[in-house]
Amino acid sequence: MRIIGHFIDGKRVDGISSRTGDVFNPNTGEVQAKVAMGTPEELDNAVKGAAAAQIEWAKTNPQKRSRLMFAFKEKVEVHMNELAELLSSEHGKVLADSRGDVMRGIDVIEFACGIPHGQKGEHTHGAGPEIDVYSMRRPLGVVAGITPFNFPAMIPMWMFGMSIATGNACILKPSEKDPSVPMRLAELFVEAGGPVGLLQCVNGDKEIVDSICDHPMIKAVSFVGSSSIAQYVYACATASGKRAQCMGGAKNHGIIMPDANMDQAAKDILGAAYGSAGERCMALPVVVPVGEGTAEKFLESLIPGLEAIKVGISTDPDADYGPVVTRAHKKSIEAGIDKAVEEGATVLRDGRGFTLQGYENGFFIGPTLLDDVTPDMDTYHEEIFGPVLQIVRADTFEQAVALPSEHQYGNGVAIFTQNGRAAREFADRVEVGMVGINVPIPVPVSYHSFGGWKRSAFGDANQYGMEGLRFYTKVKTVTQRWPEGETRDSAFIIPRF
Ligand code: NAD
Repeated sequence: MRIIGHFIDGKRVDGISSRTGDVFNPNTGEVQAKVAMGTPEELDNAVKGAAAAQIEWAKTNPQKRSRLMFAFKEKVEVHMNELAELLSSEHGKVLADSRGDVMRGIDVIEFACGIPHGQKGEHTHGAGPEIDVYSMRRPLGVVAGITPFNFPAMIPMWMFGMSIATGNACILKPSEKDPSVPMRLAELFVEAGGPVGLLQCVNGDKEIVDSICDHPMIKAVSFVGSSSIAQYVYACATASGKRAQCMGGAKNHGIIMPDANMDQAAKDILGAAYGSAGERCMALPVVVPVGEGTAEKFLESLIPGLEAIKVGISTDPDADYGPVVTRAHKKSIEAGIDKAVEEGATVLRDGRGFTLQGYENGFFIGPTLLDDVTPDMDTYHEEIFGPVLQIVRADTFEQAVALPSEHQYGNGVAIFTQNGRAAREFADRVEVGMVGINVPIPVPVSYHSFGGWKRSAFGDANQYGMEGLRFYTKVKTVTQRWPEGETRDSAFIIPRF
């Protein structure tokens, strides 16, 4: 059995612990590899290597840091197909989605190439008599990124791209469900000229996460995953004095106003609800048709597309989506559907028990559509994270604003309408971090920033963009005065450069 170890000080190393986790082939249900569960000693070793590498790296001029980012981006582009195949083989998403995963990571690396401009400080000439003030953004030192299974290329690149470009070293703790792409990215980083030790990949589970939160040399923790773990990591990391940004779960709503272009909205929502088997934190698993008759019109447009969805293995070029990541996750999605049914939801399409011929043990779930879901049901409040779309009807625009605003999660939301005034008011008032207007998955481009509200994010700083740059740096401000007499009268010798 193939064992996936760690990537420390520029090379792959075996784990020292006998504890391992299963990495599945989600198409067949077989265990295809074992991933080593790192120990506190291995983490400590990785942190020390990273700290040593960071000393020189912090002195490296920003243009050289930018060039490394550029070289890394080119490496990733050259290896795009290999990375996408590796990603699909462990995650189960189709190849087109895997390429998208890598591409969205590259977007952030491209932003990081602009670090000489982004990390420039501020200067005030003559803040007082002969006094000048300047401030600079210094790196923090060694930082850590802890990532979820669902974007094993993009999210690691959000974290190590921004942290390394700003002069830090990064300890990456990938999801134990699909660790191979982050490992390969760390290897490509060194092949692109990345200093040894600057990007360390330590695999593992809760034990490593706890050790990261406790380690005195790690100055900041960036986390993405489910809300309960995000909240836990935020509490642990901040309790030991670290800066933390911890992104959590989501239950994003798609509001369908009566004047929406129904065919377009239905097409967009099919992709946003079922694409990547619904395993996206910016998926749209709730649709809110507003006003009498809107739900019927929307469903009329949606159903033919829903019937045409093809579920297949991750390498099938015609498949719309593939299997979910693990057997346990398949069971949890099916349990989520069971619960909705028990609570009174109407099942319009049932994906439970779906099997794919020749792949009977794969982790497949058919597209599921649940109508008559209401805000008093637990199923409405919980994240299912699978190919399951719930219809929650609203009578008025006010209710449509209130539903996502009062939901525990506040990651993304979309409104479909042809009325600019309604869209603008919705965007102004809704209590959600990322809003789409006729855009189903409003993931901000790399030079803006990504972050939800409420239980979708703990901590103040968003991911990537200038928010990411600020998260990974601290401000130092110098107030200086050079009075003429003091320099002349002192024995100070002006150094010659
Ligand atoms: P998860 O919370 O199970 O795991 C995330 C990370 O936490 C992994 O690295 C894992 O090893 C670690 N972890 C798991 N259990 C832990 C524990 N008890 N103590 C400490 N660490 C632990 O999440 P997942 O299943 O990998 O990913 C799916 C979740 O991530 C969904 O809830 C999804 O909405 C969310 N997500 C959020 C965003 C966002 O930006 N808001 C983006 C992607 C995914």
